[in-house]
Amino acid sequence: MTTAIIGNTPFRKCETLSQLYESQFFIKEEFHNPSMSAKDRPAFFMIREAIAKGQIKPGGTFVEASSGNTGLGIATFAKQLGYQSQIFVSKSCSSEKIDALRMAGARVEICENSNGLHDFYSTQFRAQSYAATHPNSYFTNQYYNPQNIRSHYKTTGPELWKQTAGQITHFIAGIGTGGTISGVGRYLKEQNPNITIWGVEPKGSILSEFLTTGAIPEQHATYDKIEGIGRSFIPGAFDRDVVDHIFQVDIEEAEVAARQYRQLTGSLVGYSSAALLASLQRHKEQMGLTKEQHIVLFFPDHGSRYVSKIYSDLFDRLKTSLNIS
Ligand code: PMP
Repeated sequence: MTTAIIGNTPFRKCETLSQLYESQFFIKEEFHNPSMSAKDRPAFFMIREAIAKGQIKPGGTFVEASSGNTGLGIATFAKQLGYQSQIFVSKSCSSEKIDALRMAGARVEICENSNGLHDFYSTQFRAQSYAATHPNSYFTNQYYNPQNIRSHYKTTGPELWKQTAGQITHFIAGIGTGGTISGVGRYLKEQNPNITIWGVEPKGSILSEFLTTGAIPEQHATYDKIEGIGRSFIPGAFDRDVVDHIFQVDIEEAEVAARQYRQLTGSLVGYSSAALLASLQRHKEQMGLTKEQHIVLFFPDHGSRYVSKIYSDLFDRLKTSLNIS
């Protein structure tokens, strides 16, 4: 079954970025996971634990609030294991991800925002409420489930350490639930405390201020920008002790960076991967890049999930060729 091939994703040097920024750049390509994103790792760990602990009976429904990718992992594995899935996404979720969720067998509800459990209209509130009112359902709750961090601590971190032969100096990842950066960050710092862990989030998100000052800034109720990353609350799965700095970028900068990267390399990148590229452009001086560094960019998913949003030129051409208005 496909769960056997979660993780152990390819890792490769990116010559284009290495030349552009005069440093050694590598990419961890998470779109090679079974449902095409890094979130297969936490999805599988969370499901496996709930089943093992008897928190859900066969035929029951796994419930999750997701920007799409975790939901897709949950839906895929739930179906394979004889369960159902109910996924709450926010209205900013790309049509490609909603289609993929439905094809994976999920029931999908589209919510106003993903502002956290305190907001009645959020994906998280709706998911919690659904699980509370439907017998034999289980809310995997990636924002607070320890299996989220654990999946990256146990799999992604060790993979990176091995794939870089211990040469990694910097790890850069977008922050949504915080699971990736917290699990990978802790593992890598345990191997070598000098490894630098950088997060990226969109402007308006509150985690960089929280990291720097320890204060929880006033919440931005309308906040919901780059798909997969950025928050208006502090997720329980965000471990600030292992993150050195968080860079912020504009959504427009990310889109431009994605299109430039496509021109240079021919590759389509996901929204949050594009945010990492934008962070290099905007913050390269502050990052102090040098030739000796081994910098790993974490690409959680693929640009094919966002063609209608980021690569609208491709989308228009596709529609024309299929004769769709
Ligand atoms: N990028 C994408 C595309 C995602 O779906 C997510 C998960 N929301 C992230 C980045 C952030 O990962 P994490 O939740 O582990 O912080």
